[in-house]
Amino acid sequence: MNREITRRDFLRDATALGALGLTGCTNFPLGGSAASGTGAASGKLPEQGEFVIRNAYVMTMDAGTGDLADADVHVNKGTIVAVGRGIAAPGAQVIDGRGMIVLPGLIETHWHMWNTLLRSMSGDKREHGYFPTALALGKVYLPGDMYQGARLSAAEALHSGITTVHDWCHNIRGPEYADADLRALRESGIRARFSYGAAQGQAGDQPINLADLRRVHRDWRTYSNDGLLTLGLAWRGVSTGATGSVSAAAYLQDFGAARELGIPISVHANNRKGADAIALLAKEKFLGSDVQVIHATWVSPEEVRALADSGASVSLSPYTELRIGFGFPPTGEFLAARIPVGLSVDTTALSGNADMFAIMKAIQNIENSRAQNEFKLPARRVLELATVEGARSLGIADRVGSLKAGKRADLIMVNTREVNMGVFTEPAHMLVEAAQPSNVDTVAVDGRILKRRGKLTAMNVEQVVSEATAALAGVRKRGGWW
Ligand SMILES: [Zn+2]
Repeated sequence: MNREITRRDFLRDATALGALGLTGCTNFPLGGSAASGTGAASGKLPEQGEFVIRNAYVMTMDAGTGDLADADVHVNKGTIVAVGRGIAAPGAQVIDGRGMIVLPGLIETHWHMWNTLLRSMSGDKREHGYFPTALALGKVYLPGDMYQGARLSAAEALHSGITTVHDWCHNIRGPEYADADLRALRESGIRARFSYGAAQGQAGDQPINLADLRRVHRDWRTYSNDGLLTLGLAWRGVSTGATGSVSAAAYLQDFGAARELGIPISVHANNRKGADAIALLAKEKFLGSDVQVIHATWVSPEEVRALADSGASVSLSPYTELRIGFGFPPTGEFLAARIPVGLSVDTTALSGNADMFAIMKAIQNIENSRAQNEFKLPARRVLELATVEGARSLGIADRVGSLKAGKRADLIMVNTREVNMGVFTEPAHMLVEAAQPSNVDTVAVDGRILKRRGKLTAMNVEQVVSEATAALAGVRKRGGWW
């Protein structure tokens, strides 16, 4: 039964990809409308229309503009046209912003989206911990399971006000696995970096499927959803990690391929006391502004300096770091060194959910507690990490992360009239301390309204969850995991 559903999904996948390739080539040669082509093919994504949000409390997260009370945001064809008071926008659809905080969509910077099928499945015994669970079940995934995991993640992201994700895909067991994961991202309308990685259980002396990485890179136009999706490398790194060691020959080939293709590189490092992976990365000249380092919960001052000098960014995922025992994120040290810091979900197998409001709150509370200082990390600074600085850390701050004319229209509206948000006090504090995903009223990505009045517009949540449930039943059965 589950296997049948999966096979049917996969066939539909292949058909849709074929059709997309055809229409993409014949109808959109100018490079401007591939996304509408994709949307039309899936028949799901709303149009990039023209709308104006009126009379909202607008937090632009732009240093020069700041917050604007009782202000408007005008969007046309995916672009922010204007932000300010009393904007003239004749003909635009009007969205009432009274009682709403409007801010840039939240930016997530490292998430193994395929394992959202395994939500809350990191168990209480060593053999059921996160790494053995992801390994045992990842090995029996079919391409359709990648699709279901990524789609469930994307649905939750949009529900939670996350408009950009970094899909750190480390279970690519064949070309069709990458394709299925990418199809879920494309159909959802979310903005994402897709980082191509190894398979679970892949031998440490083997490079990733570099021929397939090159294929995906070459054909990226058919995957990118008009630039919403970009490609990166999910690099296994230089040291012995939780999933075993990788040989120098293999990690050098993987790294070299990414540099040759000019795609950004992301790597987990220093999540255990005594780790010195970042020192090794620095020594071997593997750091740079195209490199993102994940966790780094145990870093020496020299390593912090090496990260800063190289221009590398850092991604922190407090809920998985706390839950698995990696320790406390040293957020203050990275910020003091002016390292771009992004916040992340990592895996819902450990974190349970993808609540960026809670992630912001954890980052603030951990840092204040470490410093024994109520004022160490202000709410507004944390909000920057989840918006404009998160965008900077992924290298996309020219497009998103703040509300400014000319940028892409990735924005959210948070309803301040709900019971956990009343009364309106200090908006940055409200968002970091009080807000929850259920308060996200409206979400737009690239000008497409993907959540409105608290409901996803392009995804049927009941169907997403029930198909994911069926997929997980198949995974558990094949993996003998009961
Ligand atoms: Zn991770």
